[in-house]
Amino acid sequence: MTREGRLQDDACERDPIWERQVETETHAQAFERAASAWEKQFAYLMERSPFYARKFRDAGIGQAQVQLKDLARLPFSSKQELKNAMDEAPPFGSNLCVPPEQVKRVYQTSGTTGAPSVLALSRADIETWTVIGSRTYFATGIHDHSSVLTTFGAGPFVAGHTHFVLSRIGSRSVPVAPGDTDRVLFGLRAGLADTLLSTPSFAQYLANRLEKSEADPSSMELTHIVTGGEPGGGIPAIRDHIQTVLGATVTEVMGIGDIAPSLFGECPQQQGMHFCGGGHVWAELVNPDSREPMTIETGAVGEMVYTHLTREAMPVVRFLGGDLVRIEDSPCKCGRATFRMRVIGRRDDMFIVRGVNVYPSAILAVVGTFRPRVTGRARVIRKTTDVSVQPPVPIEVEVPDGQDGDARLQAEIEDAIHSTLIFRTKVDLIPEHTFGESGYKTRLTVERP
Ligand SMILES: [Zn+2]
Repeated sequence: MTREGRLQDDACERDPIWERQVETETHAQAFERAASAWEKQFAYLMERSPFYARKFRDAGIGQAQVQLKDLARLPFSSKQELKNAMDEAPPFGSNLCVPPEQVKRVYQTSGTTGAPSVLALSRADIETWTVIGSRTYFATGIHDHSSVLTTFGAGPFVAGHTHFVLSRIGSRSVPVAPGDTDRVLFGLRAGLADTLLSTPSFAQYLANRLEKSEADPSSMELTHIVTGGEPGGGIPAIRDHIQTVLGATVTEVMGIGDIAPSLFGECPQQQGMHFCGGGHVWAELVNPDSREPMTIETGAVGEMVYTHLTREAMPVVRFLGGDLVRIEDSPCKCGRATFRMRVIGRRDDMFIVRGVNVYPSAILAVVGTFRPRVTGRARVIRKTTDVSVQPPVPIEVEVPDGQDGDARLQAEIEDAIHSTLIFRTKVDLIPEHTFGESGYKTRLTVERP
């Protein structure tokens, strides 16, 4: 058995792939598996989903089977449409395909752009999410012998499903409420856990804090940090700092609430997240501007689009996930044949400076190199909702308390961003205590007229 699919200190002899058959099959086999599931799902949608039956009719799709290879004939589904479907027949909406009494679990979305919406699961959907999540977290290196301190709440958000996943994998769970830094520190210092699940913002905050307060923070039992909920764990400057200070390996996971809360998991090779939805979710890559289909191959950059193959309660078709990704090398040394990717940024966070697309994560990557003079967090201030931004672009960079008067640092960051990203910025240094909560997620862009 290869050692390459497991973490450095992991001496166990267990197969490091949760579902070997699904995760190592060829693309042709994966396609065949998906195509036969899709055949049933399409018929199911036509019969059970008033929302999709109407949407497909409006798009000129007849009753005849649309095969997986012709999926691009079907229209995309946007977040807004799904929200409208919900408002049409509350609480579950016109895309509910099971009787309401068969809805056995309900999560809510954050509602950052309006009122929250709900995500309904049947008993089978709960199981499917647990299976996909188990592949995902197992891929990161979490095994039954791991002790996992998780800062993901049980609800209202889909990240709560991770609790079922850890229990399925059989690891030790040490649940702590999001934002309860004291409990996290107690748990880690007491040696209750060797693994931490958190947002990269929180892991970064923890690294900054322990770097100042502990003689040797890397001497804790902690050896593995899995980040999720936002990009960051894959940005080298952020990852390296967390790894060095805490003496742990950082891997990341990603999910999409409407599809599956944990759909991509990065293996210990640390070169991108493997797709873990085989047989249940079909992933497409499309050109972010024209939305034309693209081939999922090394180096391709596009927007991910997802279709459920087995979802019962609220299945979605060709959902525009809003994440711009770069496809990484395959196959992977860990043995998985599934494609790997790294998130470049959220479509919503993108802005254009003089015709060039910019993602805040690119700015973070530059800012992070100024540590320890900065903490590593930064955000872009958008004066209008316009996607085009006139330089200099206003940016707030978090610095340790008492260092916000450093005019030289300010100029150095502006120069570094200019030479790397070729546009001018106006950097404001913001002390740690006024930047915002220490914690959960960091919004990468803030609108402030
Ligand atoms: Zn791998």
